[in-house]
Order: sequence, then C-alpha cells, then structure tokens
Amino acid sequence: MGIIQVMPDALANQIAAGEVVERPASCVKELVENSLDAGATEIRVSLEEGGIAAMVVQDNGHGMDPDDAVLAFARHATSKVRSARDLFKIATLGFRGEALASIAAVARVRLETRPRGSESGIVVQVEGSRQTAPPAPVGMPEGTRIEVRDLFFNTPARLKYLRSVTTEQARCLEVVQKAALARPDVAFVLETNGHVMFQSGGRGNLLEVAAAVFGAGEARQMLSVEGATPDYRIHGLIGRPTQARASRAHAHLFINDRPIRNYALHQAVMAGFGARLMTKRHPMYVLYLQMDPALVDVNIHPHKAEVRFSEERDVARVVQDAVQRALDEAFLVPSIHIDR
Ligand code: ADP
Ligand code: MG
Repeated sequence: MGIIQVMPDALANQIAAGEVVERPASCVKELVENSLDAGATEIRVSLEEGGIAAMVVQDNGHGMDPDDAVLAFARHATSKVRSARDLFKIATLGFRGEALASIAAVARVRLETRPRGSESGIVVQVEGSRQTAPPAPVGMPEGTRIEVRDLFFNTPARLKYLRSVTTEQARCLEVVQKAALARPDVAFVLETNGHVMFQSGGRGNLLEVAAAVFGAGEARQMLSVEGATPDYRIHGLIGRPTQARASRAHAHLFINDRPIRNYALHQAVMAGFGARLMTKRHPMYVLYLQMDPALVDVNIHPHKAEVRFSEERDVARVVQDAVQRALDEAFLVPSIHIDR
C-alpha cells in the first residue's frame, strides 16, 4: 500500500493561504481587487485594529447570484478565466480563484451580496473553510459586502508573525492609496475604528487623488508625463527632482491599471531623471502604462504584483523617454535676448 494521501480541502486551502494572505493588507488588496473587477465605482474599507480584529470591504459592484456566492469560496473557482488561452491576455486584477478560498481558510468570513436588479441579497458564512450556516436571504443595497474577522485565528504561527496594529494599519492604508491612484475614477474610503483615514473622490482626476495621497502641496509641484509608441502608452505625474525621497515609497507604477513592482522600470524612471537626481534619492512618480495584455505576463507570482514583459527593453525605453521629455520641458531655460 502506498503512503501518499490527497490533502483534505481545508488543509490545502490553509497552505495556499500562506501565499496569498500574509497579513491584513494582503487581504484588503485581494478584496479591493475583487470589488474593482466587479465594476464597483464606490469602495469602502473599514478596519478594526489594523484589520487584525476585523475588516469590511463594501462595494457597489455587480454582486453575485446565490450559487456563485457559495462557489466563490471554493479553490480555483473564478468567473474570470475560462481557458488556458485567457491566461495570455488577462484583463482583470484577479484570475487565480484563490483569494476568497484562502481568506476563508484562515478567518471568519461573512459575505453578503446582491446582484444588480435582484430583489434581495444572500449571506454566506464560512469559518476556517467550513460553511457555518446555510446561505440565507438578507436585505442590503446592490453590491457586495465582505467582513473578515479574526484573521489567522486557526493559524497561531501566522498570527504571531503580525506586527503592531499601527504597522498593519499603515500597510492597509498603502494598499488603499495605491488602489485609489490606480483608479482615479473610483471613490475610495478607508476608515479605521470609525474614523476616516483616507478618501478619494472618484471623479477621475489624477491630480486630485495625488493630492489626497501625497498632500496638496506636493501634488501641485508634480509634472505631467505623456508619451506613446504604437505598442505602448504612458501618462501620469512625476515629482520634481527636489521632491525626490530617500525611499521608493512614493514610486507608483501601473500597467493596465494594475499596481506593479518592476525593478527595470524603476531604473528606467531613474534614468529619465539622469543627473538631475541626487545619488541615493528616488523620484516620486505615478505612472500609468497601457499595453496589449498579451505583451505582459502577470501570472508569475501569487501576489500578482510582479510582471514579465515580452519586450522589456522597449517598455523601459518608453518610460525613460517620457520622463526625460517631461523634465526637459519643465526645466527648459527660455532664451532671452536683451538689447543693450
Ligand atoms: P478571482 O478574483 O481570482 O477570480 P477570488 O477568490 O478573489 O478569485 O474570487 C472568486 C470569485 O468570486 C470571482 O471570480 C468573482 O466571480 C466572485 N467575487 C469575489 N468578490 C466579488 C465582489 N466583490 N463582487 C462580485 N463578485 C465577486
Ligand atoms: Mg480576486
């Protein structure tokens, strides 16, 4: 007799959760991504104790019908990818079908959802991968509300690894601010223990969101960036060289509205600044690149924040040129002719 056993789902989910939900902020990120994928224009995130005790994400997106509301918690259950071919042109933020299953494996989750045009919503409750009550109808506005309590209640090792409430809260704030920058057309609110910590108007005005994130004084000084080639389009804002920071915390790059981390492109921005930047300083920027999804692979890491380009050097060139041009224009010394 062999000794190999297939893991029970709850155990497999818990292991998968380790990749997806490291801390409250990763949970917030997944839930907000789902709200955006559902076409929400208003997203409210509420935290208790930095999200460790509880978090609620409420949206006005398209909601789920009762069957989907239950199925959403199954691993590899997604409405976003149907075939292998879809993987080469992912247009949604999610596609792995792992987030809700992972979160529900390590927390107590209450999902309320009401599809557009439906009379009422449905509530589904899952704790540690187990449904704790049969789905029941619930009165609620259209959209989805997900409450996540007692994160890591059944994985003490992970719970111990969390930092202070202040630190976890700060990371959640970063996630919401990044999402707000990614989507100036969506209104975000972040509340902690009932107090509004961050808010963006959702009016589609980048400068307005930048002011909410960086402060009005900083945002006002930033320079606008614009550029295009047949394959790529770039736009956004860069800080002046004098606004550069010691860390990369104010460097935001979005590919097709997805926040990403990419060292080569950060270097490309730096190269665009060239000698204008003091050594060991990082420019502030909010840059958006649009390209055919087939030219970028987002399926290389569970966090979906790292990407691979089929033509990395071309992308880097577009970024560098656009940044350099914006700076050249801003600091062009006008030629003055003085007649004596
Ligand atoms: P993925 O986002 O990769 O598809 P998730 O586990 O995050 O996987 O979500 C599973 C499915 O549940 C999604 O594909 C979507 O159909 C549904 N879903 C999750 N959150 C929402 C939401 N806020 N509004 C509408 N549908 C949602
Ligand atoms: Mg998702």
